[in-house]
Amino acid sequence: MNYKRSDLDKKDILIIDDMADNLRVLSSLLTKEGYNVRKALNWQMALTACQTVLPDLILLDIMMPDVDGYEVCQRLKAWDITADIPVIFISALDDVFDKVKAFKVGGVDYIPKPFEFEEVLVRVQNQMVLRAAQLEILKLNAELEQRVKQRTWELEKALQKLQGEIASRQQLQSKLLDMVLHDSLTGLPNRFLFIKRLEKALHLAQQEANYQFAVLFLDCDRFKVVNDSLGHLVGDELLIAISRRLQACLTPADTLARLGGDEFGILLEKLTDISTAIQVAEQILQQLSLSFKLSRYEVFMNASIGINWGSKDYDQPEYLLRDADTAMYRAKALGRARYHVFDPAMYQEAIQLLDLENDLRRAVERQEFLIYYQPIISLNTGRISGFEALVRWQHPVRGLISPTEFIPVAEETGLINAIDKWVLQSACEQLCIWQAYSITPKNLTISVNLSAQLFSQPTLIAQIDQIITETKINPANLELEITESVIMENTNAVKAIIHQLKERNIKLIMDDFGTGYSSLSYLHSFPLNALKIDKSFVKIMQENQENMGLVPAMIGIAESMGMTVIAEGVETTEQLEKLRILNCGFAQGYLFSQPLEPQLVLKLIDAVPQW
Ligand code: C2E
Ligand code: MG
Ligand code: MG
Repeated sequence: MNYKRSDLDKKDILIIDDMADNLRVLSSLLTKEGYNVRKALNWQMALTACQTVLPDLILLDIMMPDVDGYEVCQRLKAWDITADIPVIFISALDDVFDKVKAFKVGGVDYIPKPFEFEEVLVRVQNQMVLRAAQLEILKLNAELEQRVKQRTWELEKALQKLQGEIASRQQLQSKLLDMVLHDSLTGLPNRFLFIKRLEKALHLAQQEANYQFAVLFLDCDRFKVVNDSLGHLVGDELLIAISRRLQACLTPADTLARLGGDEFGILLEKLTDISTAIQVAEQILQQLSLSFKLSRYEVFMNASIGINWGSKDYDQPEYLLRDADTAMYRAKALGRARYHVFDPAMYQEAIQLLDLENDLRRAVERQEFLIYYQPIISLNTGRISGFEALVRWQHPVRGLISPTEFIPVAEETGLINAIDKWVLQSACEQLCIWQAYSITPKNLTISVNLSAQLFSQPTLIAQIDQIITETKINPANLELEITESVIMENTNAVKAIIHQLKERNIKLIMDDFGTGYSSLSYLHSFPLNALKIDKSFVKIMQENQENMGLVPAMIGIAESMGMTVIAEGVETTEQLEKLRILNCGFAQGYLFSQPLEPQLVLKLIDAVPQW
């Protein structure tokens, strides 16, 4: 039911009294004062009056038949719509009026009879003001409550939104973190995460005496060949397949990471026996020896593995990896497709290599190089047909250093470009000097070794042109020895350079033939003048009495492609005889002469030797 409040302008007063006189007196007094006054003679009438309009104030007589004032007040207070309407008791002086009880049942004040008009008004007004204030407070409270509710709802909404946002941020963050710590191709941990894991393992080893771990560094053997010949997509497919196969060799407690390119790192933890690491490496090598069946190709891919026992004495996790890497390099040097265990001596060697690198830089600046010349003999005439220029390094402390020691370092550091150009220039100048002597054969050739790296230099041809112009040598007498890796590159740039060399009549020789991986079809598409059979085949020829190894086949290949053949590393007369029987065109080796200093070359020419 909806109960009406009294008219807001006129305050409503309900007088409950069984005495009609009292009612009349009070009523006229209060009406005069501007109140709206209603009258009730008993509880029943009061109830009806409240149900019609809720009064702002109730004046309640105590002494009434049936239901007395205390009881009426209690009932009003118990009824929720009238509970907070102020009740002022009216009591005659001769009544037995219990003030305490009046307040206890909920009265707010009392007015004694007979009425002091002034007092009645003041008490009524007081209660009216109080009531108004109370109502205002109630209204404000209700408003406040409403606002709080609204605000709470808004805050809850905002909170929900915020939580949603936080969740999606967290998702994004963990995705980013995942990207930062993982390799996108294989999904494996990357180098960064791997180092973190190594760090943890190192800490554990430093804290727990019986915690043992090992670090493996794995590098695929000649992965570049797959990338270059079959393309990067196949290379990527292969890397994924390799990572799967590696994972299968490990337990969930181990960490497999892709460190970059074709390099993988493995952390073996909680090892009871360190030899387990060797077993894992052996199993990996065995697994990698099986072919990979990719979507379009079947590929073979082996790897070299360096093993480093995790010692607690390492200061930094990076050093653990560095030493595993060094051991891996040793495995490669020992013939690839194998593992090698790191020992501290290797670190010393690595440091020496670094020293060598630094020294080599200085050597290029200070031109500490020398060229020795080794004669090449025409087997037709038995006479010297040319010389191969072989570089040496005159190290200020270590003395003469062989190219086999420093050329790989020079290639790795890019210093090879400067060295090879210097050799080319010097050898051409040397040829020019020799040709000034009348005893020198007219078509004496000079062979210069060029590293594959020079073929990616756009200035190579211009530099060769300049050298030829300056030294005035006949380009037809210049022979450039290249290795199979040059033609393996098979790029248009390389082709263009080779074509331009041909145009200048400069000869091209495939050095160390048989040791590389070039296919015959590649060989066919390059205009080479000669194949130089590697000394390892010449050596085997002697041991292999019946069929002379592969040398006859190599000579056959060269002949069918219209190339001449030079046999390298001829040391015995037996080898020489066999090569002659096989119709090999040229030979070179200690049997004829060691590589010589330039001054000794003239003596040799002068002696006009014949073999
Ligand atoms: P290479 O071009 O195959 O040169 C032949 C190597 O075999 C030379 O070693 C030579 O001294 C050695 N040799 C000659 N006759 C015999 C023999 O009868 N028996 C044996 N066992 N060895 C013989 P060297 O001078 O130590 O040069 C090694 C390699 O270093 C060269 O192999 C070549 O690949 C590279 N090299 C030398 N000079 C240069 C250069 O100026 N530039 C570049 N890029 N590489 C060079
Ligand atoms: Mg050579
Ligand atoms: Mg050679």
